[in-house]
Amino acid sequence: MSNYTMIKEIKEYAKTNDVPIMQDEGIDFLTTFIIKNQINSVLEIGTAIGYSAIMMALANPNLKIVTVERDEERYLEAIKNIKKFNLEGRITPLFQDALELTLNNKFDLIFLDGAKGQNINFFEHFEKNLNDNGYFITDNIGFHGYVEKDENEIKSRNLRGLVRKIKAYIEYLKENPNYDTTFYKKGDGIAVSHKKEIG
Ligand code: SAM
Repeated sequence: MSNYTMIKEIKEYAKTNDVPIMQDEGIDFLTTFIIKNQINSVLEIGTAIGYSAIMMALANPNLKIVTVERDEERYLEAIKNIKKFNLEGRITPLFQDALELTLNNKFDLIFLDGAKGQNINFFEHFEKNLNDNGYFITDNIGFHGYVEKDENEIKSRNLRGLVRKIKAYIEYLKENPNYDTTFYKKGDGIAVSHKKEIG
């Protein structure tokens, strides 16, 4: 089976089983970013079923990825998918809550695509794992258009709470003196935070 057909199948599985995966525009942005910036190591928070990790690995044959997922069913599906592409040597999936994970190695890029209300915690937990001059990329910064909406228009209390957390994260990134962050209206909204050189 071709890569194209297998990717199509993963996307269909995601749709049928309500697994949120990156939008096409977002994944195009991410893979292009990886190629342009010669990213060779990625830590991904939120594997789901392995779609974005596989797409990143296919974009750069030198890329190695560690990816974390806390949902067992999705993690097991990710393992199957990674095997189908023979990418076991380059993608390491971990079944764990990211906030309980301690890693000692460093990465060129840390991709935050886990629970949307936890981004500040993820950022601070994994900052020590980012290489000098490295990047955090965060997906769903626009949160399906809700971030730009007037809060009074959002009826659900839970959703309002989540949108507030995403707005707080956006402010956190803007005000963080150690990073230059650019916001892109691609897919569901993407933030790229470049670690500043020290000294
Ligand atoms: N990156 C995937 C893709 O585009 O193919 C999609 C990831 S999906 C939007 C978010 C995933 O993060 C969910 O499967 C969820 O279970 C997982 N997740 C959320 N919070 C997490 C945490 N604290 N630790 C590990 N996984 C987490």
